[in-house]
Amino acid sequence: MSIDRYAVIGDPIEHSLSPAMQEAGFLSADMTAVYEAHRVSPEMLGPHVACLRYGYRGFNVTVPHKEAILQHLDEIDDDARALGAVNTVVVRDTALRGYNTDAIGFGLALESAGCNPRGISAVVFGAGGSARAAVAYLNSRARRISVVNRDRARAERLVARYDRAEAIAVGEESVATRLEEADLVVNATPLGMGQLSSGNPLPAHACLRGGALAFDLVYGQETPFLRQAAESGCRTVDGLEMLVRQGAASFTLWTGREPDVRAMRAACEREMERRRCFVS
Ligand code: NDP
Repeated sequence: MSIDRYAVIGDPIEHSLSPAMQEAGFLSADMTAVYEAHRVSPEMLGPHVACLRYGYRGFNVTVPHKEAILQHLDEIDDDARALGAVNTVVVRDTALRGYNTDAIGFGLALESAGCNPRGISAVVFGAGGSARAAVAYLNSRARRISVVNRDRARAERLVARYDRAEAIAVGEESVATRLEEADLVVNATPLGMGQLSSGNPLPAHACLRGGALAFDLVYGQETPFLRQAAESGCRTVDGLEMLVRQGAASFTLWTGREPDVRAMRAACEREMERRRCFVS
């Protein structure tokens, strides 16, 4: 019996929850498959991807390869091309086709947090890959999206192709007003995670609307961003649901089947708990 092989490539990759999450998806769908984590340095991306053409059914792509991978693919889905980033590759007869499921994952996570994005005003902190996915999803639905970033030029490049998005630099006066009016505030920076665990994109005395949704793409810990938002009366959600939903969308692209998202979420939670026990 042959076993279908899948992988996630990135550097570093040891922290990835994708192997536990995707294997739970395969198990719940009664499919025999393995999902491996491959640490791939930027210099080895080309040779490694050439090997994945043979023997693998698909793979995920994470930091720092989401943009560089595009040059190694045979075909790129329109949405992924528009985002300029690929996080999912489907292998068919050794041909590689790239997709991006981050925007879908972001949207489904918002929906499951009870947030209807139609006509809302949103503030997104960050202008990197995940912010791009959030803005791509929100642009056709929200009334206004304010992208707040340290590097203003990067925020301007991001918003240039979206008619409802504006760029603001961290520290500009309009950040306070936009936050007061926001129905949704998104942290799409690594502030609050790992070595930046005490970091918070919110200004210290930010005035947030009670009942607004604060969505941190960081997952697995209560970040200063979510703490401050909760203290201001906001509803809060972390990045786990987005991780699970983008992973479930990858699973469907590879297999044509809907995985059991509850099993995938539970596997992530078990894996995070195991790591917490291991560290403490
Ligand atoms: P990128 O590296 O593409 O972008 C990072 C962004 O954060 C940039 O706008 C950068 O600003 C800003 N930033 C970085 N460090 C700081 C800092 N010290 N102070 C202020 N701003 C900072 O990262 P991604 O967009 O891929 O990821 C961002 C976060 O989202 C990560 O924590 C990642 O784990 C998480 N994520 C979660 C996902 C999920 O499914 N839950 C999916 C994807 C990402 P500048 O341009 O000024 O450098």
